[in-house]
Amino acid sequence: MEAIGSQAGTFSLAPLKAFFQGGASRAAEVRLRYLEALGETIKKYESSILQALKDDLGKVAFEGYATEIGLVLEEISYLQRHLKKWMRPQRVWPSLAQLPGQAAVQYEPRGVVLIISPWNYPFQLLMLPLAGALAAGNVVVLKPSELAPATAQVIQEIIENTFPPEYVQVVQGDAQVAADLVEKEWDYIFFTGSTRVGRIIAESASRRLIPYTLELGGKSPAIVEADADIRIAARRIAWGKWLNAGQTCIAPDYVLIQEKVLEPFLQYLKEAIQTFYGDISRPPAEYARIIQKSHFERLLRLMQEGEVTIGGYSDPDTLYISPTVLLSPQGALLEEEIFGPLLPILTYKAPEEAISFIHRLPPPLALYVFSDSSYAQQYYLEKVPSGGACINDTLMHISSSRLPFGGIRESGIGRYHGWYSFETFSHARAIVKTPTWIDLPLRYPPYGRKLGLIRKLLR
Ligand code: NAD
Repeated sequence: MEAIGSQAGTFSLAPLKAFFQGGASRAAEVRLRYLEALGETIKKYESSILQALKDDLGKVAFEGYATEIGLVLEEISYLQRHLKKWMRPQRVWPSLAQLPGQAAVQYEPRGVVLIISPWNYPFQLLMLPLAGALAAGNVVVLKPSELAPATAQVIQEIIENTFPPEYVQVVQGDAQVAADLVEKEWDYIFFTGSTRVGRIIAESASRRLIPYTLELGGKSPAIVEADADIRIAARRIAWGKWLNAGQTCIAPDYVLIQEKVLEPFLQYLKEAIQTFYGDISRPPAEYARIIQKSHFERLLRLMQEGEVTIGGYSDPDTLYISPTVLLSPQGALLEEEIFGPLLPILTYKAPEEAISFIHRLPPPLALYVFSDSSYAQQYYLEKVPSGGACINDTLMHISSSRLPFGGIRESGIGRYHGWYSFETFSHARAIVKTPTWIDLPLRYPPYGRKLGLIRKLLR
């Protein structure tokens, strides 16, 4: 099937608007049929997707499946199972004024939706919102990241083999193409990427009163209390940090650890790195590479802002930067989102010190607390607002269609996954149905002495 304008220059919104307005994406059967078709095509393309992820990011097959394809297939099947129930009008008690009428909330599709994604999980971060947008009955345009071109190409093939072009379409291109797209008259914009670009999108959308979701980044802390299981903490932080070579929006950005357990923590971290990756002085087989030269150079500059205690190896030819742990971090290492395999560690004596350090920065996308004490766990959850959080773990809050995923303030606006995607991509419409067999005169003028009566009724 041929796309009607996969290049931004030839792109026109009109056929997609017409398709939506004709109601073709609305019926439950259509939504379910295309969700099914999307899942089936993804399965057919599994090896091409894994190869593309390898070409773009050096992603190993296990990670490609577990963190991209698998999550998307699971989400599709969750949406399929629940969709009919969510689409039913949700009856609520009518208010006194609405009697004897009926009241309900009906979730309506928003219309034509633009979804823009980044390069770090280039398949999942486009397809997971797509599944939610389709479930909610929308027509969709996808703009994949230009920094993961192999994955963008496979996504385009999958979409062209599954949907008519006026239903779902891929537009490939760079930041300028994305910026031009954003200026069109969408009914909704769903953006995943940096806080800097998120702000540009919010400004443009707000000017035209287009609703939007922003899934952004930030510095997510991992706090390790002295009473935590230090070995488990080290292993789970190492896994969450060095998955995809640290290029994960919810990766623990830095560690705050109680001073007295720093030494054993470093020891266990070293052990975990050795067990997971072996010799890190050369690129390990099961470890991703940095997406591009400019990111590689930025990370090497950041590495200068701390004392390397583990790792510190790099290779410009393969864009490899090893798992690296830094003590006494300063400057940009403490201000910028790292988005790479550098793990700065800071120590604290009292929890208040850790809290005041975190509060210097905007609210994070994720918070990770390692402690055996439920008091300490609750303390940090209350003191540090964040998009999501894990206790004694990292990243795991993303891996469920039953939990909302999103940020807070600068780390994001809105949420998705499962029901939350359906809700995000829908408009909750209030509908009141009033019968005509009776027409109570109370609401109509002349009001005369009705004020007293209405006061009593509404009290
Ligand atoms: P980015 O903001 O540079 O680019 C993301 C997308 O936006 C790309 O498709 C790009 O073409 C497009 N874009 C660039 N300039 C634009 C403009 N002016 N107008 C409209 N679109 C534009 O982000 P990136 O470097 O691809 O990804 C890294 C960032 O994404 C990190 O900050 C990371 O934390 C964040 N991220 C967040 C999540 C999340 O779920 N919250 C997930 C992954 C990545």
